[in-house]
Amino acid sequence: MLRAIYPGSFDPVTYGHLDIIRRSCKIVDELVVGVLNNNAKMPLFSVEERVKMLQEVTKDLKNVKIVPFHGLLIDFAREMDAYVVIRGLRAITDFEYELQMSQTNHKLEPDLETMFLTTSIEYSYLSSTTVREIATYGGDVSQFVPEEVRIALKEKMKTKGVYNKYE
Ligand code: ADP
Repeated sequence: MLRAIYPGSFDPVTYGHLDIIRRSCKIVDELVVGVLNNNAKMPLFSVEERVKMLQEVTKDLKNVKIVPFHGLLIDFAREMDAYVVIRGLRAITDFEYELQMSQTNHKLEPDLETMFLTTSIEYSYLSSTTVREIATYGGDVSQFVPEEVRIALKEKMKTKGVYNKYE
């Protein structure tokens, strides 16, 4: 059985992430989406909120599991008994960091392999950072994230005193 991990911050999950999740599900038997719990990164959504959003938007996929983690990816991979890591590549700018990460992980855990899926063209520009930035100024994010996430972003922004201009 092939079990893979797709790790990330998913702050919040976008259609770009979902595309990688859906495509990976067809390749592996089980996909563990690892949600990084790293408070030093000062996420907009707590790890619990990010896990919940991911669970909602992947509920139609039978072989996906959403699991929070902190610490080293190699330790999480061992814990999950998964030796394939999936990452998405958008542009050349992702490449340098991803190469370094995958080689470091391979040094630390030689059995761990990283597999890259190139982004679907329509999502190549999309990142959680951009989505957060648009939402911060009350912009419309409906093209970039599923409805549940759009609503969660709107609610989160309300708590910060930002009101959506597009409704
Ligand atoms: P980001 O904040 O850049 O969206 P994450 O840590 O949440 O970053 O990303 C997790 C993984 O998903 C990374 O491998 C990243 O390259 C990939 N990813 C993010 N957005 C996209 C996209 N639009 N298309 C393909 N892969 C993506």
